[in-house]
Amino acid sequence: MSFVRKLESLPIAGLIDVSLNSSLAAVRESMARREHSLEDFAHLISPAAANLLKPLCLRSYQITRQRFGRVMRLFAPLYLSNECINKCSYCGFSRDNPILRVTLTVDEVRREAQTLLDLGFRHLLLVSGEHPKFVSTDYLTDCVQALRGMVPSISLEVGPMTQEAYRSMVEAGADGLVVYQETYDRQVYAEMHAAGPKRNFEWRLETPERAYAAGFRRLGIGALFGLSDWRSDAICVAAHADYLLRNCWKAALTISLPRLRPCAGDFQPLSEMCDRDLVQLVCAFRLLFPDVGLVLSTREPAKLRDGLIPLGITLMSAGSHTEPGGYTGAGKENLHQTERGRIVELVESRRSVGADVVATEQFKIADSRSPKEIADLVRRLGYEPVWKDWDHF
Ligand code: SF4
Repeated sequence: MSFVRKLESLPIAGLIDVSLNSSLAAVRESMARREHSLEDFAHLISPAAANLLKPLCLRSYQITRQRFGRVMRLFAPLYLSNECINKCSYCGFSRDNPILRVTLTVDEVRREAQTLLDLGFRHLLLVSGEHPKFVSTDYLTDCVQALRGMVPSISLEVGPMTQEAYRSMVEAGADGLVVYQETYDRQVYAEMHAAGPKRNFEWRLETPERAYAAGFRRLGIGALFGLSDWRSDAICVAAHADYLLRNCWKAALTISLPRLRPCAGDFQPLSEMCDRDLVQLVCAFRLLFPDVGLVLSTREPAKLRDGLIPLGITLMSAGSHTEPGGYTGAGKENLHQTERGRIVELVESRRSVGADVVATEQFKIADSRSPKEIADLVRRLGYEPVWKDWDHF
């Protein structure tokens, strides 16, 4: 049974009810268990559990130390293209946003990767919008093949593909696939995705299963917090992770916890998730899934990221750029502006600043510290920064 069908059969409404109405006694009971169920998870993310955040953090810290030791894996996103045919209300690359777009050539991708390698990274996440013309399967295959000999671990965060296309990616040298469902609430999902292939909720939800069947050895999932009630989406992410751990058990699973950030289009979050909520959620995931990697990006501010390092996070990005060419300035010559999905003349004011014009970013990052600063911080906190944990050579 696929997760799409499984989700229909799960008592999600009942779990959401538990997550909103749990008592302190029930939270304490759930926290004390050695193994945790989805119902325990619902207790752990409840408002009542927020009153027990300190012991929850301590438990999460202990489990993380026991299962992962004192290490923090580091990676960087490499944006290939900000062309996109989808209309996602919350994203700077959304089709109708009047922004500067570009798709890097394979040589430019190689240059960006070399710069990241020089900074220490050995695990890169190739990111792009979804556009069959600019970001075709052939283009992505060429990019992965070009990096295969240079970059030990290549993950993809691109538009969902068929199992066959994913097999081409694995054969080309990619080992990880990241796909966020954004929100598991079908109604909000439909409202947020007004046009484009991403409207297909179920095709996206089944993506990790297709990727696993094609041979990816790392799978990453998550929700974008700020679209729907965070507790509801967190419960669905937990159910999804539980399903993947049982059915796609040969792959290493990670869960990301991105919160909405400012971007072109000026979308405002529809629901709030404060810093304390995020900390509580990291700890709840750690108790439910002691061995699953938890990912934190530069969307979050430095102080919060520093505080979360010992509490359950095991994989962090550093020094990120969220625009194509962000690390080297590559692609400037081929920039073009789009309006409502059509290429238009670059406006004069932008043309006149010439070489300083860069492609538009997907969203603003909050932690702009360099990879070296992050690595130094990790060491100061008594952890070892790990740049490489896999080699396909
Ligand atoms: S979220 Fe992804 S699919 Fe949607 S507009 Fe942004 S890049 Fe395109």
